[in-house]
Amino acid sequence: MRYRELGSTGLRVSEIAMGCEGFMEDEYRMTGKLLDLAERNGINYFDLYASDPQMRAAVGRALKGRRDSFIIQSHICSVWKNGQYLRTRELPEVKAGFEEMMSLLGTDHIEVGMIHYCDSLKDWQKIIDNGVLDYAGQLKKEGRILHIGLSSHNPEVALKAVESGAIEVLMFSVNPCYDLQPASENVEDLWADQAYEHQLTNMDPQRQRLYEVCQEKGIGITVMKPFGGGDLLDAALSPAGAAMTVNQCIHYCLTRPAVACVNCGAHSPQQLLECIAYEDASDSDRDYAQVLSSFNGIRWEGHCMYCNHCLPCVSHINIADVTRFLNLTKTGNGVPETVREHYRVLEQHASDCIQCGACENRCPFHVQIRQNMQEAVKVFGY
Ligand code: SF4
Ligand code: SF4
Repeated sequence: MRYRELGSTGLRVSEIAMGCEGFMEDEYRMTGKLLDLAERNGINYFDLYASDPQMRAAVGRALKGRRDSFIIQSHICSVWKNGQYLRTRELPEVKAGFEEMMSLLGTDHIEVGMIHYCDSLKDWQKIIDNGVLDYAGQLKKEGRILHIGLSSHNPEVALKAVESGAIEVLMFSVNPCYDLQPASENVEDLWADQAYEHQLTNMDPQRQRLYEVCQEKGIGITVMKPFGGGDLLDAALSPAGAAMTVNQCIHYCLTRPAVACVNCGAHSPQQLLECIAYEDASDSDRDYAQVLSSFNGIRWEGHCMYCNHCLPCVSHINIADVTRFLNLTKTGNGVPETVREHYRVLEQHASDCIQCGACENRCPFHVQIRQNMQEAVKVFGY
């Protein structure tokens, strides 16, 4: 298992992480089975968005004697009322829900307290006005949560939260189809038939900016919906009309800037093993470029998807990395020191480019690589 820094939190998380979707299977016995398997394979991070008390209690039982093996991302504002899940911004409910969660989990702290599911600017304001954000800050001061996070499907809202400086971790829905769609307050819009009826070209600029700003500010992204709820794995269900593999979906997420880990929502040990197998998959098994090129009515044109198809470069330049660092300078804040340093330690730089053009013939997305190399020389100086 490979591990990544979760933004600037100081936490090192396994790039394959777990969602909790399957925990309730087999009358909650699956919780222990999945956590056992995760621990054996080096997974140290899981998300717990669900408020079902039986599930939380099952997690608490499964964690006994090995609390330190896992970094827990659990949600604030996701509560259980009248026998069902409720998202709330009412402070008394939020507080009671948090206390119940901590007691069911049997822990005195969680590493990431994730403010649950905020998809509209109005709701973000409510989180502030109702004192939820202050409450999260108080929990952090008390050491009951170590870092504050927010989960969202909407890049506009996520950007607002990230730029406010209030959050350190973002749980965001990332996959190649969502990435095409403009911001919306309704997550269903991202998968609606009408959203795919017209030609779609390239990643939505606001999403691109979100990833770049997160990278620049040291906000770690933990991914939800990497497989679009499973639809992306099935040509008949995918809005793109072509099936991706588990490896391709995971690799797509892990090659976006700022992404630290992918929360895979496995329903069985077999499904979790399929995700873990990504760690040993070959480059060609992970390669998503061909399948993206085959999507119906969707084009990525002139936009680097960090797929590495352009390699090998005759000058041994890591073209995707140079392009990624170049893009990170386009957020309008000059060249961040971290980006300058990441660029500096590359073995070869844009100035090593001899403008041969061989890479451009191999790029499935027709990126103007030579021009990017020239631009990188101007920006970084070499
Ligand atoms: S330049 Fe083209 S081939 Fe190279 S990483 Fe970017 S999208 Fe892929
Ligand atoms: S054009 Fe530059 S980046 Fe592309 S293969 Fe040639 S030397 Fe490498």
